[in-house]
Amino acid sequence: MTKMRKIKKIRDIQPERTPMPVQEPAERVHNFDEVASGYTEADALREAERCLMCPKAKCVDACPVSIDIPGFIDRILEKDYRGAWEVITDANLMPAVCGRVCPQEDQCEGVCVVGKKLAPVAVGRLERWVGDMAVNGGWTAETRIEPNGKKVGIVGSGPAGIACAADLAKAGCEVTVFEALHKPGGVLRYGIPEFRLPDCVIDAEIENLKRLGVKVECNTLVGRLFTIEQMVGEMSFDAVFIGTGAGTPRFMGIDGEYLNGVLSANELLTRCNLMKAGDFPRHDTPLGLGRRVAVIGAGNTAMDAMRVSLRLGADTVYCVYRRTFDESPARLEEIEHAEEEGVEFHWLSAPLEILDDGAGNVRGLRCQRMELGEPDDSGRRRPVPVEGSEYGLDCDTVVYAIGTDANPIIGQTSGIELNQWGFIATDENLATSIPGVYAGGDIVTGGATVILAMGAGRKAARAMREHLSITPNGD
Ligand code: FAD
Ligand code: SF4
Repeated sequence: MTKMRKIKKIRDIQPERTPMPVQEPAERVHNFDEVASGYTEADALREAERCLMCPKAKCVDACPVSIDIPGFIDRILEKDYRGAWEVITDANLMPAVCGRVCPQEDQCEGVCVVGKKLAPVAVGRLERWVGDMAVNGGWTAETRIEPNGKKVGIVGSGPAGIACAADLAKAGCEVTVFEALHKPGGVLRYGIPEFRLPDCVIDAEIENLKRLGVKVECNTLVGRLFTIEQMVGEMSFDAVFIGTGAGTPRFMGIDGEYLNGVLSANELLTRCNLMKAGDFPRHDTPLGLGRRVAVIGAGNTAMDAMRVSLRLGADTVYCVYRRTFDESPARLEEIEHAEEEGVEFHWLSAPLEILDDGAGNVRGLRCQRMELGEPDDSGRRRPVPVEGSEYGLDCDTVVYAIGTDANPIIGQTSGIELNQWGFIATDENLATSIPGVYAGGDIVTGGATVILAMGAGRKAARAMREHLSITPNGD
């Protein structure tokens, strides 16, 4: 029987949202420690009290994986923290990750009824708090796994691959994840910096996967060592999931892109996060970042690239974006943190050319001011150049963070059908054109979010179970 929750009125609750303790900007800009240290138990209980326990909770509808949000908050209030974790992990396998990186202001918190009059309930911070309890306490789901004799291969160890692997392992499959890089985690590991998502949180999630019996084989570039066709052929995988992400950086094609000092945000972030360039000479990864860095773009990747540049010792970091703050795709918190840390924002500015110092190095950007016109296909107002508004911006490093394309290797080395943009084409169940091969996450949708990639991994796992005629435990 479902328990009746105590429904509250908005006038009964604390008007202020419980603040998140954070490192001071002047201090944190010199280290890679996590910016937000997380709620204490008292903070979590105080914030949980602000939830009205709506019977038809809009926040649940707005969550891409439909977490029972009032359900887990109710368990927090009852101090049944393990119960809270079980409610969340019914829908989302990685609360400590998603509590930190999900764009809650566009999802659950964006529609929370409390937000109509006051600041919305801090759902993400509560989710993170519960997720951290599980990480610190080494909690794992007690799953009885009945082996079913099916062998499944997963290509890519990002959130899509991890979610798919976990569900299929729980259903009794023998699962192997193949990862091109030397550490698993995908963008969680190589893209999102430690000060937003510490490695220990990702390690805990991967450890959980291994406890389910999943084998993780790193340094394995599928498409070069073996193909997808070989996996379902001579390697005898009964089914394969492709979650290879969208890691190929885009450039603009303007003059000067060949100069020394131009790089993509993915390269900068991978060298820093995965290859520890910030810890030179202990880790022998050169970076050659200049003192004045201009980052083109204003999404999460751009914010990460700018904040990493500051931590690596840049004196000045510019954000050059052709639209305004309102159209910026980054999470609000990331923009606020970047601003506090001293990033200089050049809104409504488009680069026209990267300038040469005469010796093949970057000496600056030639930019043009923009204004906003009518909405384009994305629904955002189109930037229109303002005539005669060109200006120069002195810098010695230019970082591109204007989006990414599909990783091309699988498309180049297999007969799998791609769409017109080079992403893998699937049907509504995420089945590809090769029988038994499924795909999901950024390699299908283009760059999106962690929770959407995880949702796709789980959706594919359901379809793969059906394809393999498996009845999972508990279903
Ligand atoms: P990925 O995470 O890209 O993982 C794909 C994996 O496949 C990688 O490990 C790759 O090495 C591996 N691979 C690729 N090709 C092969 C091959 N041929 N053989 C074997 N392995 C292969 N989203 C949010 O929700 N919130 C954020 O704050 C946020 N910040 C971001 C910051 C940055 C810098 C970036 C780049 C993205 C950010 N995103 C954020 C987006 C989010 O991380 C992605 O949408 C998500 O990680 C996609 O998951 P995925 O599993 O599809 O792919
Ligand atoms: Fe609680 Fe807000 Fe969800 Fe209502 S909409 S259940 S107040 S988090």
